[in-house]
Amino acid sequence: MDKQPPRIVSSLAELRSARLLFDGKVGLVPTMGYLHEGHVSLARRAREECDHVIVSIFVNPTQFGPSEDLSTYPRDLDRDLLLLEPAGVELVWTPTPEVMYPPGFATWVEVEGLTKPLEGASRPGHFRGVTTVVSKLFNAVQPHKAYFGQKDAQQAAVIRKMTRDLDFPIEIVVCPTVRETDGLAMSSRNSYLSPDERTAAAVLFRSLSAARSAYERGERNAQSLRRIMAEVILSEPLAKMQYVSVADYDTLEELETVAGKALLSMAVFMGRTRLIDNVVLG
Ligand code: AMP
Repeated sequence: MDKQPPRIVSSLAELRSARLLFDGKVGLVPTMGYLHEGHVSLARRAREECDHVIVSIFVNPTQFGPSEDLSTYPRDLDRDLLLLEPAGVELVWTPTPEVMYPPGFATWVEVEGLTKPLEGASRPGHFRGVTTVVSKLFNAVQPHKAYFGQKDAQQAAVIRKMTRDLDFPIEIVVCPTVRETDGLAMSSRNSYLSPDERTAAAVLFRSLSAARSAYERGERNAQSLRRIMAEVILSEPLAKMQYVSVADYDTLEELETVAGKALLSMAVFMGRTRLIDNVVLG
């Protein structure tokens, strides 16, 4: 089948009319743009599983803290469209902040509990912005399936919970993290890294891999696994650790002993760039 360039719409009315033309299963891939192979893998998976794929590109201001990188977040719509075309994406929705948050906007969606630790503790208000915008995307697009990356493991868990709690009739599909050859998880924010920082950034996956190897050799003490992760991060002078975590996969509560499925995760600053990564054990 010949691939057509995706159609781009910005307003909610255009999005709704375009959506009405789609019969069969619709898959949604929410993104903030500046796409890479991680995003494209989500679109490809959606294409395999659905009749129509809609990608949203929206740098959501409400999920950025006041001292975060909203104003410098990288953007390149032309390049994004070139990457999406071969993936078979038919429709790209690029709402403006005014479309998403018209004057007087005052309604928020908040998931309790799961949003408190990890990213929630480091980035107050972040998940409230994420769940609010994803609810709006779900309501506007009305997809049958929505695709998220394991790279943002807590986000995926929070969205799953929100979808259940609010009865969205949408299947949440979580796709594996796509990595560079040195193990660095692909991220739009990697473009901020200087060449030295880029080289050093492989330390996140080295650290997670060291803990995973220890687990595979029989280590079940969570504090020992955290220590292994921290030691590897500390060995890299350009890296500044924000947190390392060994948590229950479902509740995200910190563990003493790894018995069932566990999420190993971390946030690390490389200079001014904040990177996150994770692996799942068990
Ligand atoms: P973002 O544009 O960073 O908001 O990401 C949009 C979606 O792509 C989210 O569901 C992310 O988890 C997912 N994603 C980002 N990076 C990767 C990656 N390296 N591998 C797989 N999925 C990713």
